[in-house]
Amino acid sequence: MVIAIHGGAGTILKSEMSAEKESAYKHALQTSLNKGFSILAKKGTAIDAVAAAIQVLEDSPLFNAGKGAVFNAEGKHEMDASIMNGRDLSAGAVSGIRNVRNPITLAKAIMEKSEHVFLTGEGAEIFAKQHHLEFEDDSYFYDENRYQQWQKINATDAFQLDHTSEKKFGTVGAVALDSFGNLAAGTSTGGMTNKKYGRVGDSPIIGAGTYANNNTCAISCTGHGELFIRSVVAYDISCLMEYKGMSLKDACLLVVHEKLLKIKGEGGLIAIDRNGNIELPFNSEGMYRGWQNVAGGAVEIYGN
Ligand code: ASP
Repeated sequence: MVIAIHGGAGTILKSEMSAEKESAYKHALQTSLNKGFSILAKKGTAIDAVAAAIQVLEDSPLFNAGKGAVFNAEGKHEMDASIMNGRDLSAGAVSGIRNVRNPITLAKAIMEKSEHVFLTGEGAEIFAKQHHLEFEDDSYFYDENRYQQWQKINATDAFQLDHTSEKKFGTVGAVALDSFGNLAAGTSTGGMTNKKYGRVGDSPIIGAGTYANNNTCAISCTGHGELFIRSVVAYDISCLMEYKGMSLKDACLLVVHEKLLKIKGEGGLIAIDRNGNIELPFNSEGMYRGWQNVAGGAVEIYGN
């Protein structure tokens, strides 16, 4: 049994973090890990552990997903999410949804209760209503810091990957291996501040931001989505293992520190293989991350 989570990668520097903020982030990450791992410990499934761990992060204002989702160019919150079960390669995904409290729950409902994989916008919201998922008013997603960050950039024509003028990606994700040998992965995001034209990143795209296969690994990504889509990051790691016989570690190294860097793809990912090995590689300054197995666990923020 293993679980790993992330709360985004990017320019995360110790010099810019107050002790208070750091402990708030660590606390949220630990709460998410505890939630997910307790499900695994009770003989729950990897897919349930992943969804529950992500839900905790979506409910926190600290991360760019669910409650903490960034503002788009119209001052609204449009969210994307996906989830995949490595047991049977079933998957669910949503993009551009508004007011749904937990996008990961909607992705999971699409996977389990529809004959489709990917629903978008209003249609996805109708499906969510039909399945009695929780909705929230716009005010629930309002955060003063995110608003100020959007106001600054809204006057320009730029778009931005989460807060500050530096690059920071606050997407959340989880991967898990349960006691039955099943792998699962999920990712949830508000996308990019001031995004327009219905922009969608890698997070809801199966194979790019999320992938799980019991024969290889479970992956959830965070970073500059356009580059992650072009690199088909999550599936590439699985393929390197499946077709080239690479270890999880070598596949992650190649994709994150060579292939992505070659096209200036900044970010990172969390990964678990079918033997319970964990890799948390990133090519940015930091990545909010944590892992737990029966032997122990850790939450970390900065690079080495
Ligand atoms: N990958 C996400 C996106 O491009 C951003 C993030 O990781 O924070 O939408």
